[in-house]
Amino acid sequence: MTVAVPPRSLSPSRASDFMQCPLLYRFRVIDKLPEKPSEAATRGTLVHAVLERLFDAPAAERTAPRARSLVPGQWDRLRESRPEVVELFADDPEGERLARWLGEAEQLVERWFSLEDPTRLEPAERELFVEAELDSGLRLRGIIDRVDVAPSGEVRIVDYKTGKAPRPEYAEGALFQMKFYALVVWRLKNVVPRRLQLVYLGSGDVLTYDPVVADLERVERKLHALWDAIQLATETGNWRPRPTKLCGWCDHQAVCPEFGGTPPPYPLQIGPPESGGREQGRMGPD
Ligand code: SF4
Repeated sequence: MTVAVPPRSLSPSRASDFMQCPLLYRFRVIDKLPEKPSEAATRGTLVHAVLERLFDAPAAERTAPRARSLVPGQWDRLRESRPEVVELFADDPEGERLARWLGEAEQLVERWFSLEDPTRLEPAERELFVEAELDSGLRLRGIIDRVDVAPSGEVRIVDYKTGKAPRPEYAEGALFQMKFYALVVWRLKNVVPRRLQLVYLGSGDVLTYDPVVADLERVERKLHALWDAIQLATETGNWRPRPTKLCGWCDHQAVCPEFGGTPPPYPLQIGPPESGGREQGRMGPD
């Protein structure tokens, strides 16, 4: 049996989970409830693997046909490393849905070539795991899809998205993850990345942002407030559900009070009042 432990670090996805719905964060981080793989998320993982592996080839050979040809082999590797994804096509004995899904992955890979030219890129890092501890002791971690470093030393952080670009009014939310990574790189290497770049393969858009120190300090303050709120919820066991239209994609409706369910017993000890007496952290927008 897995023993539940309090959260010890924060990644962009889990920070977004908490901002979306504290109870969702609890289910994922503390209860570690299983979730079914989805076609969209698995296709994203597959496309990321293809774009990463393409850079193994010499620059001149990084062509669209070559990238497309990597799709079946990377799908085989994914099935080996995460056998649960096979369930996605368990009801598709003729393989028609799988063939269509693989075709969609190929289209996403192909669209990348209209947005960036990999024959002219030499990434410094691909799928880079980063972790930094802030002065407060809060540990931030994540995986950056690609890091480019110019001869001048300027750093560009790149993330691929297989979905569509958000409408302008939602761009700030999309950039949160990138500013999170920029903060980690800044704290690790003492360099503020020159550019943050989101490449949306679903819609063929590129969103860029050039951060300044004040942006990263703001994100740092926001993450501290978020972490205070997470710690308070951990100590008190008070993880409030926050229903939104995103509940439609949540795997945990059966155990969510908003949908008539009952969460499993809280697996952590609830702290005595004196240890949980901290004030709720401020969680306003940037
Ligand atoms: S169904 Fe909605 S409110 Fe309930 S845990 Fe999931 S995201 Fe939160």
